[in-house]
Amino acid sequence: MNNLSNTGYKSNTAAEHTTKTIIIGTGFGGLAAAFRLKQQNDNDYIILERAGDVGGVWRDNQYPGCACDVQSNLYSFSFAQNPAWSREFSGRDEILQYLKRCARQFGLTSKIHFNTNVTRLEWREKDSEWLITTDRNEYRSRYIISGMGNLSDPKIPHIDGIENFKGKVFHSGNWPKDLQLDGKSVAVIGTGASAIQFIPEIQPLVANLHVYQRTAAWVMKRPDSAVNEVTRKRFASMPWLQRLARYKIYLKREWMACAFRNPVLMRVAQKHAMHHLNEAIKDPQLRKKLTPNYTLGCKRVLLSNDYYPAMAKPNVNLITSGPKRITERGIVGHDDIERQVDMIIFGTGFQAQELPYAHYIFGRSGSSLAEAWKDSPVSLAGTTVSGFPNLFLIHGPNTGTGHTSAVYMMEAQVEYSVRLIRYAERAGFGVLEAREEAQQRYVRWVDKLMLGTVWTSGGCQSWYLDKTGRNSILWPYYSFIFRNRILNIRSGEYEFRKPQRLTAA
Ligand code: NAP
Repeated sequence: MNNLSNTGYKSNTAAEHTTKTIIIGTGFGGLAAAFRLKQQNDNDYIILERAGDVGGVWRDNQYPGCACDVQSNLYSFSFAQNPAWSREFSGRDEILQYLKRCARQFGLTSKIHFNTNVTRLEWREKDSEWLITTDRNEYRSRYIISGMGNLSDPKIPHIDGIENFKGKVFHSGNWPKDLQLDGKSVAVIGTGASAIQFIPEIQPLVANLHVYQRTAAWVMKRPDSAVNEVTRKRFASMPWLQRLARYKIYLKREWMACAFRNPVLMRVAQKHAMHHLNEAIKDPQLRKKLTPNYTLGCKRVLLSNDYYPAMAKPNVNLITSGPKRITERGIVGHDDIERQVDMIIFGTGFQAQELPYAHYIFGRSGSSLAEAWKDSPVSLAGTTVSGFPNLFLIHGPNTGTGHTSAVYMMEAQVEYSVRLIRYAERAGFGVLEAREEAQQRYVRWVDKLMLGTVWTSGGCQSWYLDKTGRNSILWPYYSFIFRNRILNIRSGEYEFRKPQRLTAA
C-alpha cells in the first residue's frame, strides 16, 4: 500500500491517502494530466486506475482489427512524438505500447494505484476537498482531474430472451482472449466504428456471419500505408520534420470541420464514398442495403478498405430488419426468421450518454452530476461544472470531435485545468467553481455554433445526441477555436474561494 502521508498537501481530516490532486484513469487524458503536473514540478498527485495496466480504451478494446482512424502523427501527445510509428494509422497494439512507454519514460508509473476502482466522489464543503471512495481505500484530495472518458463502458441493448441464449455473448469492448472462431456461426449486432474493423478480421474464419445492421454507415477509403524506414529515421533525427508532418495533417483535417458545418459540402465526400461502395459491392440488392439514407458526417464517418469486400463474401448475410428476440440457439429477426448461431457479438457502442460516473459524483449541494445533467450534460469549457468545485473533466461535454484528434482537445483541457489551479493558488485561493451564468452563456454559445451542422441537420439519430436532441458530445467548430477560447482564461467565469478551514502548514 502506498504511503502518501509525506505529500505536500495536508488534509484537515485523517485519511489513509491524502494528496493535492487525484487523477482518475490512465488513458490519453489521465496521462497527459499527470505529465503536465510533473512538468511543472507539482508531484503532489496520484493516479487511480481501475485496471491492472495503463491505456484506457486502447487497453480495453482488444478486438481483432482495432485501430485508430486518425493518423498517428496527430493522434499522439504533442510532447511525445513517436518517430517509430509503423503505419500512417496505427493499430491498437502499437498505440497501447506507446502509452505504456510514455507512462514509463515520464516516470508516471510509480504514481499509479492500479486495480483501484473509484466508486464515489463526494465534495466535502466543510473541508474544501474531495472524498474519494474506491473498492480498496479512501482518498482525499483538493482537486480531481478525471480522465474517465465517455467510451469506457460498453453498452449492450436489452433484447428479449438474451438471458436464455446458450452460446457465447460479449461486447466488442470485452473481446475474450483466445476466442475460437473457426467454423463457428456468428451473429454481429451493430455496424459502427468497431464492428467495421472486426468484421473483415473474423469473416475468413467463421462458417457463417449474420450481420444485423440498424442503419447503413458511410464508409470511406482508409488512406493507410506503412511508414518506411527512411522516413522513420528522418523523424528520429529531425523531430521538426515530424512536427511539420503533424501540422500538415492537423491543417488538412481542420478543413473537414468546414464541411461538417456546411453539410452541402458533404456531397463531394458522399460521391467518393458511393464510388467506394459501388466498386466493392456488385450485387445491387446488397448495395442498396448498404447505402446510407442520411448526410455523410451525421454519424461518425467510418474508414475501411476491407469492410465492403468482407460484406460481399458468400458466408456473410446482412440483415436489415433488426433483432427481435433471442432464443436459446440464436436470433429471431423482425423478419421472423430464426438464425442459429454459436455466438453473438455486440458492436453496439458505449454508454456515452448515460455516463456511469455521473451517478457517483456528488457536488457542493450533495446532488449528483447525473441530477445536474438530467436534461443534458453541460459544462463550462467542456471541463468544469457549476456546483462541482475543483473538478476537471477531461473529455467532458462537447469536447469530442468528428474530424480531428481527441488528444489535441484533451491536451487543451489539461492545460486549461492546470492554469486555473495555478491562477487560484497564486491568488491565495484553494477552491474554484464555474459560475452558473458563465456556464449557461458558454452552453448557449456552443449550441449556437451547433445550429445547421451536419450532426443536427443531417437526418440521422446518433449517440452524439442526448434524449432532448441536443448534441452534448461534439465540439461543433474548428479545434483551434476551442483551444484559443479556453486557454485565454476568463477568471470572471469562476468563483474563487479560500478553503473553508485553512490547512495546517
Ligand atoms: P457505434 O459507432 O456507436 O456503433 C454502434 C452500432 O450498433 C451502430 O451500428 C448502431 O446502429 C448499432 N446499435 C446500437 N444499438 C443497437 C440496437 N439496440 N439494435 C441494433 N443495433 C444497434 O459504436 P462503436 O462501433 O463501438 O464505436 C463507438 C465510438 O468509438 C465511435 O463512434 C468512435 O468515436 C470510437 N471508435 C473509434 C475508433 C477509431 O478508429 N478511432 C474505432 C472504434 C470506435 P445505429 O447506427 O442505428 O445507431
